[in-house]
Amino acid sequence: MNSNCWAQCITLKSGLAACRGAFPRVASPFITRYYLWMNFVQREKYSRQILFPGIGEEGQEKLLNSSAVIVGCGALGSMVASLLVRAGVGRLRIIDRDFVEPSNLQRQSLFDESDAREGLPKAIAAARRLRDINSDILVEPHIADLASGNAPELLDGFNLILDGADNFETRLLVNDFSVSAGVPWIYAAVLGSYGLTMTILPAQTACLACLREGYEAASPVEEATCDTIGVLNAAVGVIASLEAAEALKILSGHPEALHHRLLSFDIWTGRSQFLRIPRRPDCRACVHHQFRWLEGRDQPHVTMCGRNSVQIHERRRQLDLVVLADRLRGVAQDVRQNSFLLRFRVPPCELTVFPDGRAIITGTQDPALARSLYARFLGA
Ligand SMILES: [Zn+2]
Repeated sequence: MNSNCWAQCITLKSGLAACRGAFPRVASPFITRYYLWMNFVQREKYSRQILFPGIGEEGQEKLLNSSAVIVGCGALGSMVASLLVRAGVGRLRIIDRDFVEPSNLQRQSLFDESDAREGLPKAIAAARRLRDINSDILVEPHIADLASGNAPELLDGFNLILDGADNFETRLLVNDFSVSAGVPWIYAAVLGSYGLTMTILPAQTACLACLREGYEAASPVEEATCDTIGVLNAAVGVIASLEAAEALKILSGHPEALHHRLLSFDIWTGRSQFLRIPRRPDCRACVHHQFRWLEGRDQPHVTMCGRNSVQIHERRRQLDLVVLADRLRGVAQDVRQNSFLLRFRVPPCELTVFPDGRAIITGTQDPALARSLYARFLGA
């Protein structure tokens, strides 16, 4: 580290960003070893949090040296990301497969109308906003659909995993990774006016498989989606805040403050529940260490969160979106392309294609039709 950078770290705003400017290819853990003391501006920035006895100066330094990954950046993921970045969690990875649409803006607090007009991937739009909120934080956007093939690569090396997913297949995959790798994660879901959350500490608490598998009846959150019964932004705010608070306890070094309950709230009726969930003695994941979602034996979904869309992502392939856009202009309608995605219409469907070969086909819920369109316009 050169002396100029070191001086900046100690005395100037954006110390961590300055270090990264000097060593852009150096891994974050290397940097954080040199970043053990807050500078004056940071002390002021986080002063109200440092005053809170549960965090204090030591807790704030731990937050600045901590890392978390958020799986899914919709309503919950947006709000949790904003809270953690403002709180000073040093490194935050955002994984999301989708792009911003006008119907997201009612509850997905990191996005605005220009993001929807541009059709930006949520991970990219979120990272831009989060960097504006707090330039101290290393924000890593990943446009990807979390699956067994990429989960170890995308989730490895973080202190905590946070749930912003919209489906249980992804949550069970995250649970498998968490239990197998010994990394805590926080489960959370919201639907309508109702939401719930539970913190999962591998080998200590019940896991999501303890809670969900082995029961006949699915919870209301599993059976419906936000596209079938809607969702209130205020319910998102309650659950995201509970999720973020548990994250702050873990990342600031205060696991003793965790509530160890499944918390659920209905903000419309005012009903709430606080349940202790015991570990299941025959749990597939946390007792028998069978990680079938992580091993890819259970296939991921192809339809998306009950909305009128199908995702095709069985094969990884590299696509040149510029070349593809030129080719499609003669055969498809409204061909638009930016650095992150290509979009075109084949009425009544619209196809959004990502550079890794993944595509989201809106206007149908029929996987056969979606696969047919994919093969016809993008190749088999
Ligand atoms: Zn379990």
